[in-house]
Amino acid sequence: MKKSNYDIAVIGAGIIGLATAMQLTIKFPSLKIVVLDKESVTAEHQTGHNSGVIHAGIYYKPGSAKASFCYTGNKELRKFCDENEVPYKMCGKLVIAVNENEIPMLKELYKRGTANGVEGLKIIEKDELREKEPNAAGLKAIWSPNTGIIDYKKVTESYANLFKKNGGDLLLDSKVKSITRENKNIVLETETKTIKSKHIINCAGLHADRIAKLMGHDAGIRIVPFRGEYYSIDKSRENLINGLIYPVPDPAMPFLGVHFTTRIDGTVEAGPNAVLSFAREGYSKFSFDLTDALNTLAFPGFWKMSAKHWKTGFVEQYRSINKNSFLKSLQYLVPDIKMSDLTEPGAGVRAQAVDKAGNLLQDFSIIEAKNSIHVLSAPSPGATSSLTIGKHIVDLARKNFEL
Ligand SMILES: Cc1cc2nc3c(=O)[nH]c(=O)nc-3n(C[C@H](O)[C@H](O)[C@H](O)COP(=O)(O)OP(=O)(O)OC[C@H]3O[C@@H](n4cnc5c(N)ncnc54)[C@H](O)[C@@H]3O)c2cc1C
Repeated sequence: MKKSNYDIAVIGAGIIGLATAMQLTIKFPSLKIVVLDKESVTAEHQTGHNSGVIHAGIYYKPGSAKASFCYTGNKELRKFCDENEVPYKMCGKLVIAVNENEIPMLKELYKRGTANGVEGLKIIEKDELREKEPNAAGLKAIWSPNTGIIDYKKVTESYANLFKKNGGDLLLDSKVKSITRENKNIVLETETKTIKSKHIINCAGLHADRIAKLMGHDAGIRIVPFRGEYYSIDKSRENLINGLIYPVPDPAMPFLGVHFTTRIDGTVEAGPNAVLSFAREGYSKFSFDLTDALNTLAFPGFWKMSAKHWKTGFVEQYRSINKNSFLKSLQYLVPDIKMSDLTEPGAGVRAQAVDKAGNLLQDFSIIEAKNSIHVLSAPSPGATSSLTIGKHIVDLARKNFEL
């Protein structure tokens, strides 16, 4: 079996792993760095199945890592894309209050966004709302001009190319199966390779808690997968939507509610919902993985979370199996949408970290241990924030690994 020695091994070639690895090669050009991924291409999971939105940073609690990383990440991402010719479009976004009772929460969101420093936010009235989105319902909306759209697979590809150009090794088809310690090294075994590395950075997304556990770190959280299902809007009806149309979200949940997303290729998606998945990489309603299911069901935090949020869970589950109910949620925002407009179902799976008390982790969670750093939770706006999260990890590595 081939053996190789490295200074740092990054597990996971999603957008966070590669943003980190690329910036490590810039900051520490003399270090030997490898990125391993179990798939044959980069960005195969959350990164390649997301909504492709460059978030501005409206929703997040002021002072949280999400608020500051998203604000900075939005700017850093756009600068990177300008310099590296990755296409994106700042189409702006509307968060719409359809009912009077949603207006206080809309105003609260506006306050949050402004406290987070998001530029250009304004509350607009019905007439201006209709000028921007003639087919949308609603009484008032937040207009966010600093929200955009992009293909995060392309961004990740660009990070990977720079990483390799700077001397990094990208090993695909390399699932890390075991992690042991040998003197001062950490030994990673894949089916075909043995990698020795002084330090590990865990960016394994939907499997990040498992990698941490393989290294003996139980941070008391479990990844509970939530599938986000969506439909594509029929080509002939894409003109109903100009940009990004979102509802006022439920503040107790980390998900934004079903919305309309124009993609960078001009297609329009409607969704995603958020239903419990019995497989961490379960992209269909029928996906089932016994180990993943038992992992969720055996975690006490899962049952506590279910007791707290069973009503929302039931509504989401019902909407998943009843297309009419999905349609009604969409018609709430755009009344002219019809059943025949909903084509080509697709899905992504979110790695939702849940703690032992059943709380859904709202913020990013990155922990340090001896010779290792673990990204235990990097949900949305993780892709927008990827360069800032990567920079933060590089900083932690410099101190923790004494580079
Ligand atoms: C439905 C959905 C919509 C979203 N929309 C947005 C959005 O519009 N804007 C935004 O900013 N964010 C969005 N997000 C969030 C964003 O996609 C994530 O924050 C980001 O992709 C996380 O990247 P990651 O690298 O941590 O994880 P991933 O992309 O999941 O990468 C983890 C990698 O680790 C690899 N791996 C796992 N285990 C092993 C192992 N044992 N050995 C080797 N490799 C392993 C996997 O194969 C995978 O490639 C969305 C997420 C979802 C699911």
